[in-house]
Amino acid sequence: MDMKKLIVGNWKMHGSLASNQALLTELLVGLPQPLSTDVALCASAPYLAQLQTLLQGSPLAWGAQDVSAHGQGAYTGETSAAMLRDFACRYAIVGHSERRQYHAETDELVAAKAQRALGAGITPIVCVGETLAQREAGQTEAVVKRQLAAVIHTLGHCSGEIVVAYEPVWAIGTGRTATPEQAQAVHAVLRAQLHAATAHGERNRILYGGSMNAANAADLLAQPDVDGGLVGSASLQAAEFLKLIASCPAVA
Ligand code: PEP
Repeated sequence: MDMKKLIVGNWKMHGSLASNQALLTELLVGLPQPLSTDVALCASAPYLAQLQTLLQGSPLAWGAQDVSAHGQGAYTGETSAAMLRDFACRYAIVGHSERRQYHAETDELVAAKAQRALGAGITPIVCVGETLAQREAGQTEAVVKRQLAAVIHTLGHCSGEIVVAYEPVWAIGTGRTATPEQAQAVHAVLRAQLHAATAHGERNRILYGGSMNAANAADLLAQPDVDGGLVGSASLQAAEFLKLIASCPAVA
């Protein structure tokens, strides 16, 4: 079983052909050799061709930040899973809190997107997480379980093939990170829920996301149920991202 940690950079709506090329070049030169961690980068759709060209044959994988819940058709502005497959995406983030918040994505829509990704041979990275108000109201566990349950309900026995990212909304882009104990507590809940749903001995990778950086990654990744990180801001600076990767424990 592959127990390497997985670090995924989420570039969000940042980048340009020139800055992406500079960042990727610096990353490829500076990566630890051999790389004992799985690393992937998720870019905006127009840059997937660039990632495919520059990263093919490298130790870095790439993916998208979203995928349509529809197979094909009159859905202007959407990108289908088959299109992502054309650009050899290994991953697609689904249900990022920015999509849930700004695009009113429901748990059911996120589940449909995860299903489309899997159907095209792409691993969905399913994001779940509570807002600050929900945490303060003691609803963290109920919220993340509800979000994940919708995906499990749709995917059934295929649930073992997804990556889950626990991203407390209050920690994303705020510089406020969950403590390793807070992250572990939620990851353990998600682990139990996945275990009950899959029952084939698979171990889904559960990533933590929310202001993870080179200084705090090692402590978060040392937690028994933290299998990697989904990294926003810190993935946009090569030196910081390389330090974060280097700080990963080699094996879970
Ligand atoms: C994210 O975009 O998923 C994220 C965790 O962002 P940041 O690392 O900037 O908080």
